[in-house]
Amino acid sequence: MNDLTNRFASKVFDLGTMKQRLPKDTYRVMLRCIRDGKRLDVSIANVVANAMKDWAIEQGATHFTHWFQPMTGITAEKHDSFISPVGDGPGGAPGGIIMEFSGKELVRGESDASSFPSGGLRSTFEARGYTAWDPTSYAFIKDTVLYIPTAFCSYGGEALDMKTPLLRSMEAISRQATRILKLFGHEGVKAITTVGAEQEYFLVDQSMVDAREDLMLTGRTLFGTRPPKGQELDDHYYGVIKPRVQAFMKELNDELWQLGILAKTEHNEVAPAQHELAPIFTTTNISVDHNQLTMELMQKVAHRHGMVCLLHEKPFNCVNGSGKHNNWSIATDTGVNLLEPGATPFENAQFLLFLCAVIQAVDDYQDLLRISVATPGNDHRLGANEAPPAVVSMFLGDELTEVLEAIENEADYSGRDQQQLKIGVHVLPRFPKDSTDRNRTSPFAFTGNKFEFRMPGASLSMAKPNIVINTAVAESLRQYADVLEGAEDFTSALHNLIRDTVRAHKRILFNGNGYDGGWIHEARARGLQNLPTTPDALAHLLDQKNIDLFEAHGVYNAAELRSRYEILLENYAKVIHIEAETLIDMVNRNILPAVSDFSARLCRNALAKGNFAGTACGYEKARAKELSRLSDEIYTGVNVLSEAISASDRVDGTLERAMHYKDDVVSAMNALREGIDTAESMMPADAWPYPSYIDILFSVK
Ligand code: ADP
Ligand code: MG
Repeated sequence: MNDLTNRFASKVFDLGTMKQRLPKDTYRVMLRCIRDGKRLDVSIANVVANAMKDWAIEQGATHFTHWFQPMTGITAEKHDSFISPVGDGPGGAPGGIIMEFSGKELVRGESDASSFPSGGLRSTFEARGYTAWDPTSYAFIKDTVLYIPTAFCSYGGEALDMKTPLLRSMEAISRQATRILKLFGHEGVKAITTVGAEQEYFLVDQSMVDAREDLMLTGRTLFGTRPPKGQELDDHYYGVIKPRVQAFMKELNDELWQLGILAKTEHNEVAPAQHELAPIFTTTNISVDHNQLTMELMQKVAHRHGMVCLLHEKPFNCVNGSGKHNNWSIATDTGVNLLEPGATPFENAQFLLFLCAVIQAVDDYQDLLRISVATPGNDHRLGANEAPPAVVSMFLGDELTEVLEAIENEADYSGRDQQQLKIGVHVLPRFPKDSTDRNRTSPFAFTGNKFEFRMPGASLSMAKPNIVINTAVAESLRQYADVLEGAEDFTSALHNLIRDTVRAHKRILFNGNGYDGGWIHEARARGLQNLPTTPDALAHLLDQKNIDLFEAHGVYNAAELRSRYEILLENYAKVIHIEAETLIDMVNRNILPAVSDFSARLCRNALAKGNFAGTACGYEKARAKELSRLSDEIYTGVNVLSEAISASDRVDGTLERAMHYKDDVVSAMNALREGIDTAESMMPADAWPYPSYIDILFSVK
């Protein structure tokens, strides 16, 4: 245990290490820089860089890297060694080296950005991108390299990454929430947002991935017959963890802990081979960085154990996919959770106002929330019977809903001695945490003292949903602060504001079963948006109200937003393109030949048996016929798919092309898959060229 407390965050240049390593004055300046976002001057940066380098070298580091998060959604790095030549060697060559790392190198880097997606933000002649140190997320050591978390932008200062808009969104919500807190008498405190990301994943044996091109190239299976046993017995969920998985988890935890990542819970998930890891929540920015590292380390550690960690949203058709629940709250920098109902009327009033801000934000920006989780992989998951539907709604639980209804109708509240509930005067009833956590089907659920956004897919950068949540809530709070700052009677203005917000936005509240087919109809009647696929969702990213929102809060300018639109749509088309080409390749090179060979074998057997044994050969004849029919169907399907891909070249416009892939290519893939799955179910295992779902899902013993 002691050993663990020592190892925890041992590879992180965190406040504790800074306090030990930096001169007192420098430490104090750093602290202010981290807490208040103050800039560091070069002389201070030099001192910090030097201390960081000495610490890193003691830990065995030889290189440093600016670590950033380009719009690909994964992280990027380029290593530089600390070595610097000194002295006069023969013929003017260096005589030796010293290890150097300057403040300038710490604070700012320059990299060739031309191969990262920029969505038109950076013209090719200005290929440089700049990385700028984000001191609010600590530097750390991984594989003998000192990692410095950075933001990544163009020469003109436009964000080319996920971190910059995330930091901007955190500032935006903090700015507005601090105005509100002041109105409630909390001077001198700052609001911060917190996130805890529950991460789901699959573990399969490495040999399975090696044997399946689709898993290797696309991260998911493109076909596969449903196994006789999937998740219907619920025997995997929270079940005993297999020794091989346990060994993986142990090593993963240890690596995460050394990096200061608060890995807390681990368990088996619903589907066979599926697991979950949840850390303890922390500041949004750090939480997002930590989630990126967690995903990376899951894959690395799995590899060391002869397994592959699949982070795709839907690796297998027949069982649940993987998501990532985004637990979100807002707190003061003194540690008070603003979504905690509190005990006094005044605290209750403040809680209700922040609650309303989230309700309004989710209702006004349903489309942006849906867009923030839109990826080709997640399209398989949203709306299927396992993840929340593609329609965004909110669950508050019965007790809290009743309170809001009483406020809305200015009616008596049954739970409180039949009195009219006056905000700021009466104490709210207590909301038992259990009763707020019952509904697992809601996309956006209040779980007692935080919201859980359940739509993100397993591979998503958590920056994306949090940029939207932060900015949309900042906008509600801005509107509230404008009203309340000008109010003569604060309590009654507050009461009216909460009442009016509930009246205007109650359509987003839904406590029922999100998987129920009837809900989609009701949602339509309520005027909620249903954006089933990524292109449907992205088509709304540039709606004027969305541009206005991001511009008003300085999170994205119109050009930055347009670049995201272009990149995401292009990415959608590319991902589907790769999947389709992979499927075609597997069908042409292995599946069709195998089906053909096996039906020929059946024919030969029938002939031989007919001649020599004189039997009817019912099985051989019927199967051969059925498989020949299926191979023709598959052959036609492959040609239809190839043509659908070729036709995309004739489609102009990124949105139109993405729509084409969705409408023509995805449907051709689905049709083709049906034939393949049926053929697989009729073929002997040794004649089918790929591992089956049973082989893969039960491959880790
Ligand atoms: P469960 O979802 O099983 O009920 P918990 O409620 O304990 O589990 O937490 C789920 C996740 O939510 C964890 O990552 C936890 O750290 C995180 N979480 C808890 N409180 C907050 C908060 N105030 N802000 C953000 N995340 C939180
Ligand atoms: Mg959860």
